Amino acid sequence: MAAQNAQILFPVNVPGSFDYSIPAGVNPARGDFVYAPIGQQMKLGVVMEIVSDEGTRELKDMAQVKAARPLPPEMLSFIRWTAKYNCVSEGLVLRMVMRSYKALEPSTLVTQFSPSGNFPAKMSAARHAILEKGGPFPARASEIAERAGVSAGIVRSFAAAGGMLAQSLPVDAPFGVPNPAHGGMALTPSQEQAAAELIHQVARRDYNVSLLDGVTGSGKTEVYFEAVAEALKSGGQVLVLVPEIALTQAGMSRFEARFGVAPAPWHSQLGDAMRRRVWREAAQGRAQLIVGARSALYLPFPDLRLIVVDEEHDTSYKQEEGVIYNARDMAVVRASIAKHSVILASATPSLESLVNARTGRYAHIILPERPGAITLPEIDLVDLKDHAPEKGDYISAPLIEAAKAVLARGEQAMLYLNRRGYAPLIICRNCGEKLKSPDTDSWLVEHRASGRVMCHQTGFSMKKPKACPDCKAEDTLTPVGPGVERVAEEAARHFPGAKIEIFSSDTAGNPAEIAARMARMEQGEIDILVGTQMVVKGHNFPKLTFVGVVDGDLALAGGDPRAGERTYQTLVQVAGRAGRADKPGHALIQTHQPEHDALAALAAGDRERFIGAELGLREALLLPPFGKLAAVIISGPDQHKTEGLAKKFVSLAPRADGIEILGPSEPPIGRLRGLYRRRILVQSEPKVNLSKYMQIWRKKAKIPSKYKLHIDIDPQSFM
Ligand SMILES: [Zn+2]
Repeated sequence: MAAQNAQILFPVNVPGSFDYSIPAGVNPARGDFVYAPIGQQMKLGVVMEIVSDEGTRELKDMAQVKAARPLPPEMLSFIRWTAKYNCVSEGLVLRMVMRSYKALEPSTLVTQFSPSGNFPAKMSAARHAILEKGGPFPARASEIAERAGVSAGIVRSFAAAGGMLAQSLPVDAPFGVPNPAHGGMALTPSQEQAAAELIHQVARRDYNVSLLDGVTGSGKTEVYFEAVAEALKSGGQVLVLVPEIALTQAGMSRFEARFGVAPAPWHSQLGDAMRRRVWREAAQGRAQLIVGARSALYLPFPDLRLIVVDEEHDTSYKQEEGVIYNARDMAVVRASIAKHSVILASATPSLESLVNARTGRYAHIILPERPGAITLPEIDLVDLKDHAPEKGDYISAPLIEAAKAVLARGEQAMLYLNRRGYAPLIICRNCGEKLKSPDTDSWLVEHRASGRVMCHQTGFSMKKPKACPDCKAEDTLTPVGPGVERVAEEAARHFPGAKIEIFSSDTAGNPAEIAARMARMEQGEIDILVGTQMVVKGHNFPKLTFVGVVDGDLALAGGDPRAGERTYQTLVQVAGRAGRADKPGHALIQTHQPEHDALAALAAGDRERFIGAELGLREALLLPPFGKLAAVIISGPDQHKTEGLAKKFVSLAPRADGIEILGPSEPPIGRLRGLYRRRILVQSEPKVNLSKYMQIWRKKAKIPSKYKLHIDIDPQSFM
């Protein structure tokens, strides 16, 4: 047999894999984790291909194969596809996959105890406490001791006396097996029909995508749970992607209620031990139900049957750093490679998904109504030209009247403003200086609750200074514009005696505090909740019947071609919080642009009108989904040189039909963390392979070491 080489990819930022010869007695296969030398080091990588040796080059020998389950072939294809489409190196994508090296080893064993059922005659109070409060068993002595309020020594001596059984068990316990038949809810006829269609799709065991398009409160989750159950019944794995913000205890417990066990969680805040446990159990095919944020898509599932992307329109599915990718789009790619189903669920689907559904590429499954007698909230606009708030205020008379009426009926109100803190800008009354973030083109935001000023771009924060940093005058720094803290302060004036709480990522606290606040709201202990985007998802408040949007125009500013779509989506979701139980809901949106397509369609309750107008505009301008976009960000420490590099890069653009290049220009954030930034926007006709074009282009550029060039395919952020 001819000699063979292994093409090995390492989890580092290099363009591709390296070739190694395979020494006698070593038998690597595609997907194996293997060791091979790089420079002086032995590094762990993955065999992407086994190829025959052409004998043209002298190659280093690879070392041994690691005893671990190999990456499935679909995973190798998915790594390649992700790299190619998003114009990043395969090694960087592999690094996203290899999130826990320890997960490649079998779990370590530890001694764990459980009651033997054969208790000694002498049973002290401590031993009774162990049996009553020490579970769930088996568990480590320290865990049992903590729960039972005894010392670990007593657990061990109880075992020595025969009352507990000691066993050597894996430290990473397997996840419970979900039961598809555990807790199904009674569905309405239209939910039943939608569920049947989804079940049919999953049962095909082939690549297919369904858009589950249901108004807020229509029971989308219950409906897709039936498709999840179908995939679980066949013994396969299911991944449910949710926006990071929805990974709360409340969100997870819905899964537990339906399937009898808590799902395996995956998100950026997981501790090392949990990360290792989830990765290993997912890779071994033992964890059947995983609920996670976008990066869960890169877990090496050997037997995935279904991916659900919940709230598919949500911008948090786009990763903006490192490997820039959109998890919603990559989920569809993964399914097409591994030949299984995807469900995209939303009350406000992205225009991309809607167009795919309407042209027949995706199945379009519609839930047109809320169950029972519940109706959608009525939405009205408040034209701020006619109803200007009092000087220095932000809440207009119609909002105040509506909220008062709601409170008088013993119901709850919500005031929505997607802006954290007290004021988005601080200006010196004496000299006009605005407080700016260091090394970044961004204003410092006042947070009155903490007495600090913060940069929302970089996270920089400091105590609010007493004197102006420019003219040194004292007590002249004045907040300009509203944040949620200021709206809450104003609300306290309009509604004396009302219980008002703020809910934003600053004030949210840990998961237990979030759950407690949500419980207070549910039980009617809060009258007015003032919140940012945090309040939009995953919470049902039966007594909330009025939503007031303080600034309906906030998301319309800036150069984002999806600004109208985002505004429409967010406001539908916010208004959808009102009137979920037996009481009808009402929303009022304050705006300076009542004639804007998105706002006018909201007021008319006419989604088709908005979609029609927006699609017409996108088609005329060749914007997604009718054309393609890519962005290039060039950044570096010297402003002049960054500008020069950007101009030079534009001059290197390959000639091609159907491509238009805009820029370089200075983005809204022209300097971030000390690095100057320039932005180039590339627009193409739909037939152009824009990823390939961008790759060819980038290969022509020489970027000095302190400078960076990022390509963002289908950009969602225009900052
Ligand atoms: Zn000043």
